[in-house]
Amino acid sequence: MNFELMALPFAEDALEPHISARTISYHYGKHHRGYLTKLEAALKDDPRASQSLEEIVADAEGGLFNLAAQVWNHDFYWNSLDPSGTSQPSEALQALIDTHFGSTGALKEQLKATAAGQFGSGWAWLVYSAESNSLAITSTSDAELPDASLGVPLLTVDVWEHAYYLDHQNDRGGYLQRILDHLLNWDFASANLAKARG
Ligand code: MN
Repeated sequence: MNFELMALPFAEDALEPHISARTISYHYGKHHRGYLTKLEAALKDDPRASQSLEEIVADAEGGLFNLAAQVWNHDFYWNSLDPSGTSQPSEALQALIDTHFGSTGALKEQLKATAAGQFGSGWAWLVYSAESNSLAITSTSDAELPDASLGVPLLTVDVWEHAYYLDHQNDRGGYLQRILDHLLNWDFASANLAKARG
């Protein structure tokens, strides 16, 4: 199949002043698009080209996994950002947050510490385990997704340098604070929780 670059769910300047249009232009238009273009090239004349993106992420290894997962992770990241900054956790999600972190503020602190502590390129995640009905925060390296035993992703934050270097240079913490204070998409996280619970 031909994969399509997911349309950005907001205008390139919609996250200003927290994330600049220039950063989004490069991040979405060059990095995200670049992974997709390379994925399509890698799948040319490959029988796995008929699989869905999710199937390739689940089954592939090595370079093909990296490209497919980076496409999927970026789709998930754009959806994890709320330009309006007004979304709130659903009642169900808030109850879990209060149980497992004490408060949304405490969750954000843990997410920031985990994201800041990820050595090198990667992702920080809020995940939900249906098995234990619990939330967890974790980080992954490069293109990796959270270990399935931890649960399914509700939100992610990209901590590759290309996500923040134009705006913040080496200050990953400054970038994280902007997202945590202004941009987390709780509607998306709440919908992902509802889906995980079936
Ligand atoms: Mn990225």
